[in-house]
Amino acid sequence: MRPLEIRQFPCLSDNYGFLVHDPESGETAAIDTPDADAYLAAAEAAGWTITQIWNTHHHFDHAGGNAALKAATGAKITAPAYDRHRIDAVDRWVEEGDEVRLGDHVADVRYTPGHTMGHVVYHFASDGIAFVGDTLFALGCGRLFEGCPADMWQSLSRLRGWPDDTVIYCAHEYTQANAAFALSVDPENRALKRYAEEVDARRAMDQPTIPTTLGIEKAANPFLRADDTGLARSVGLAGADPVAVFAEVRARKDRF
Ligand code: ZN
Ligand code: FE
Repeated sequence: MRPLEIRQFPCLSDNYGFLVHDPESGETAAIDTPDADAYLAAAEAAGWTITQIWNTHHHFDHAGGNAALKAATGAKITAPAYDRHRIDAVDRWVEEGDEVRLGDHVADVRYTPGHTMGHVVYHFASDGIAFVGDTLFALGCGRLFEGCPADMWQSLSRLRGWPDDTVIYCAHEYTQANAAFALSVDPENRALKRYAEEVDARRAMDQPTIPTTLGIEKAANPFLRADDTGLARSVGLAGADPVAVFAEVRARKDRF
């Protein structure tokens, strides 16, 4: 099987758009639809035709371009079943354990409530690639608009079980601000310090910090480390339950 090809491009103020292409079948999936025009331009530049749209959640900067992109391409839309009442133009509703296909490449649908209660992520396990929407960010995680800390900690804990070399495509370029916050709660973390320096260097050259990999996030992202004793101590919760540590870290980030 030939490897998937991916195009990543900025959309709106700080979103990334992603196109995933299977060169054998010619199928191309748009991951979310922040901006239909940007997706059409990226597809044309690559010489690809968008045949599918996969939504991670219902927010406007993820599903707002569904109708326009479907009208322009005829693409079939896959979206989380929980969001039946609030995502447009969908052909297939998916939930935990479902599979979506791009030619012979298979992505597992993983249900990750927290940022919203419908959020799903798409994991091409055999390809080592995941599209995680607003669940996991580089050095951060999505704000808890709908779920509670226990929901999000459970969702992130499941993603943490993927192999360390999994390439993680997050939907926003928030990494530099996330790094400043992460250092405030985990100041002695050497992997984090190195990572933050690299992020500063990339941003100074106007380069993206996405994709990231799960291994570096496990070492440096405080939202994946709520069960780390050092982090718990650092936020004044030595010995506390990981959900309590996660809730405290998330609350601090909301105020940061
Ligand atoms: Zn969102
Ligand atoms: Fe978003």
